[in-house]
Amino acid sequence: MFQNLAMNALSGLRFDNTFQRSLPADPERSDRRRQVLGACFSNVSPTPVKAPRLLGYSKEAAALIDLSPAEVESPHFVEVFSGNRVLAQMQPYAACYGGHQFGNWAGQLGDGRAITLGEVYNAAGQRWELQLKGAGPTPYSRTADGRAVVRSSVREFLCSEAMFHLGVPTTRALCLIGTGETVIRDMFYDGRPRPEPGAVVCRMAPSFLRFGNYEILASRRDEATLRKLTDYTLSALFPELGAPAGQQHGPEHYVALFAEVCRRTALMIAHWMRVGFVHGVMNTDNMSILGLTIDYGPYGWLDDFSPGWTPNTTDRNGRRYRFAHQPGIALWNLVRFAEALLPLVGSAKPLEEALSQYERTLRERLLELQLAKLGFSPAERARATDREQGSSADTGEAPPLGVELGDGLIDELLQLLTSVETDMTIFYRALGGVPVDSGWLGGSDPQLTAFLQEALYTPAACPPELQARWARWVRRYVQAQLDHGPAAEERRSRMLAANPKYVLRNYLAQLAIDEVEQGETAKLDQLLDVLRRPYDEQPQHEELAAKRPDWARDRPGCSMLSCSS
Ligand code: AMP
Ligand code: MG
Repeated sequence: MFQNLAMNALSGLRFDNTFQRSLPADPERSDRRRQVLGACFSNVSPTPVKAPRLLGYSKEAAALIDLSPAEVESPHFVEVFSGNRVLAQMQPYAACYGGHQFGNWAGQLGDGRAITLGEVYNAAGQRWELQLKGAGPTPYSRTADGRAVVRSSVREFLCSEAMFHLGVPTTRALCLIGTGETVIRDMFYDGRPRPEPGAVVCRMAPSFLRFGNYEILASRRDEATLRKLTDYTLSALFPELGAPAGQQHGPEHYVALFAEVCRRTALMIAHWMRVGFVHGVMNTDNMSILGLTIDYGPYGWLDDFSPGWTPNTTDRNGRRYRFAHQPGIALWNLVRFAEALLPLVGSAKPLEEALSQYERTLRERLLELQLAKLGFSPAERARATDREQGSSADTGEAPPLGVELGDGLIDELLQLLTSVETDMTIFYRALGGVPVDSGWLGGSDPQLTAFLQEALYTPAACPPELQARWARWVRRYVQAQLDHGPAAEERRSRMLAANPKYVLRNYLAQLAIDEVEQGETAKLDQLLDVLRRPYDEQPQHEELAAKRPDWARDRPGCSMLSCSS
C-alpha cells in the first residue's frame, strides 16, 4: 500500500521534455562511440546496476520536485534513480558538447557518463532537469566506462548541497545511490588501477547546458544547429531577456544572452572567491550557461589562504586552475563562448562590449562581498569615500580612508593572510568577534592579534615584525569600523551572515568517503545536516569547524585529487 502510494507519486512527476522536443537528435540509438554531427543529443538508456542502495538524499532538493521523504525512501525511488527503471514519461539522453581542456581545444566530449532522464515541472511551474551521473556508457564515453566511483560521487553530492546552503549558485544533488558494483580506477594515473565501489548521483538543474554545447557546433561550422540551440536557450532558459519565444532571433538577442551569461558567471566566481572554493577543472565543458557551479571533480576548499593553491594533481605543473586564477580563467572561457556565438552575431564588437559586463560585475560584486566579510555595506563605503574626498578637497591631501575602506584595507589583509599559514574560514569568523572599541585600540600588539591565534596553523611562525603588521591592520580596521561601520549588533549579524563557520573541508569529505566505502553513512548524514546551516553556530559540531588536522595535509583525497573519478 505504502509502496503503491510512492509509485503513484513518482509517476506523478510531471515531465515535459522540451530540450529533446525542440532540438535535433542523433538518429542512431546505441552507445557505440562516435562523432555525433548535426545533433544536440543522443537518445540513450541508463545501464542497470546490480544492487542499488540509497546512501543519502537531500530533502531540500527532493522538495524542489515535490517529493516527500517517504517517497524518496521507497524501493521504487531507488530503482528509478539508480537507472534500473525508466519511467514512461522520461526520455533519457546524453548531450553532445566539446570543450577547451587546460587551454586546448579537445574536440567532441559530451555526456560520457551523465544521462539526463528528462525535465520535471514542479507544482510551482519551475523546471528541473534530472540527470544521473555514473549511469553507464553513451556515444560520448570515448575509452571510459560511463561509471563513477563512490569517492567522487560523495564529493559531488555533498558539495552541491553545501554550496547551495552557502548561497553559491550551483547545480543541486537529489541523491546518492551505491551500485553494488565495482569500477576499476587508476586514482593518480600512476599505473596502479584498483577496483573501487561504484555510485550514481542524481543531480538537478534548470539546464546542464555548458559553453561546450555551443563550441562544438561552431567548431564544426554547423550554424543551423547552433542557431537552433541558441534560440532554444533564449526562449526556454532566459525568458527575461524578452526574445520572442519559438522564433529565430536577431544578433541583439544573442548579444544580450552573452552579456547575461557574463554577468551570471561573474556572480558565481565572486562567490567562489568569497568562500574559498577552488573548482579545479574550469574547462569550457565545465562552465554552465546558467552561471551555476557544475561538475564537481577535483575541487577543494582553501584551508590556509593560499591564492596559488589547486587541489588538482592533474594540473600540478601549470596550476592553471589555482584559486587566484579563477576570475581570469572564467574570462578566458567566456571569450571562447563569445567565439562560438560569433557566427550568429556576425561581428565581434558587440560581443567584446558585452564582455565588459563580466569585468564590471565581478569587480563590483567581489568588492561588495569582501566588504561584507569585514562587516561593511556598499553604502557605508560610498559615504566614507565621499567624506574623504570632500575633506581631501578642503585640505588638498590624498583621500586615504575611502580608498582604504574599499581596497587598501582589503589588499593589505589579503597579503597578510598569505604571509603566514592562516585558516581562511576561521580567520573571518574570529574577526567578527574583535571588539570595535576605541579603548581596545590602545592595546599591545599581542593583545590586538590574540584573536588571530586560533586561525594560524603554526602560531609560533608569526614573527614580531609580522605581528606588528597584523596589529597595524587591526587598528586600521577597527578605526574604519568606528568611523564608518554600523552599530555593534548589526556588524556582528552581518559578519555572521557573510562568513560561514562550516565549509566542506577537504578532509571532512574524505572522512565521509572512508565510511561510505565501508557501507556506513553516519558521517555523510552528519555533514549533510551540519552544512545545511553553514552560518550558524552549532556547538555540538564544533569539531567540524576545526582547522585541517596534520594527518590530512598531504593525504590523497584531502589535499591531492586528480581527474580520475
Ligand atoms: P570531466 O573532466 O569530468 O569534466 O570530464 C570530461 C569528459 O570526460 C566528459 O565528456 C565526461 O563525460 C567524460 N568522462 C569522464 N569520466 C568518464 C567516465 N568514467 N566514463 C565516460 N566518460 C567520462
Ligand atoms: Mg565535465
